[in-house]
Amino acid sequence: MKKAAVIGYPIAQSLSPVIHNHWFEQNGIEGNYEAIEVVPEELGMAVERLKTEGYSGFNVTVPHKTDIIKYLDKVAPLARQMGAVNTVKIAEDGTLSGFNTDGIGLVKHLKDIVPEYPKDKPALIIGAGGAARAAALGLVNENLPMVMITNRTRGKAEAIAGDVGRGRMTVVDWKTRAQAVAAAGLIVNTTVLGMAGQPALELSLDHAASDTVVYDIVYKPLETELLKDAGERGLKTVDGLGMLVHQGAAAFKIWFGVEVGFDADLRKTLEAKIT
Ligand code: NAP
Repeated sequence: MKKAAVIGYPIAQSLSPVIHNHWFEQNGIEGNYEAIEVVPEELGMAVERLKTEGYSGFNVTVPHKTDIIKYLDKVAPLARQMGAVNTVKIAEDGTLSGFNTDGIGLVKHLKDIVPEYPKDKPALIIGAGGAARAAALGLVNENLPMVMITNRTRGKAEAIAGDVGRGRMTVVDWKTRAQAVAAAGLIVNTTVLGMAGQPALELSLDHAASDTVVYDIVYKPLETELLKDAGERGLKTVDGLGMLVHQGAAAFKIWFGVEVGFDADLRKTLEAKIT
């Protein structure tokens, strides 16, 4: 029996068990993936338990993505660069290796849905939290002319541009973000704005070019106000569900060596859980 889990706090809302258990079943693997609530002060104990109870690995979500690093034996370069781990593999000898598959998921889904997204124009990342860092790392590797980033707290955007930008990122002031829209071929919202219970992201798309792609990594709701607005203007849109599934697929491959994907059945099941 293969075992994997996601640890976080809170965790009840996690869709990861649905996703991974779908892949176990689809691939005829006898396995179980569960969501485990772990409060910050019990992180070390939880890791020990997963190690001794035969788990192949686990995902790590808010608020443990950075704190987990001190319990790991190895950290992959990308995760080290991000200062955050979302996937841990437990080897048979108990060695713990950390990875970050969030950025891979974001770009993989973008290319699946809009392979022809404009690559001759800068991208604009909105937000500068953990997800923005993953987006930046993913997009900086895409050879776009520039990756612009804007955030309410400017210093956090500057930190990301400095840490992972490799000279290919520029910071746009939050107050002037609407102007950056005109230059962007791809706009990615990585803030919490637009999520259920949060206000909508205020971003005028009046000056967006007709081939601009608007990507919102929020997936609750699936169609945020931003995506609705973009869709009504005839712009291509990408929702956040694929990023979630693809970061999970990369984790599944790390643990079990099996390639999995985002099929229509899985999308239907997840959509039913969200709405
Ligand atoms: P985080 O590290 O807490 O960052 C939150 C971001 O939202 C920061 O840039 C923050 O700006 C901004 N923000 C919060 N309230 C704001 C407000 N009132 N006005 C302007 N900006 C505001 O969170 P995270 O881990 O990056 O996650 C961000 C979102 O991405 C969440 O909705 C999460 O569900 C989603 N996400 C989706 C996936 C997926 O697979 N689809 C993966 C990861 C995350 P300040 O720096 O100024 O506070």
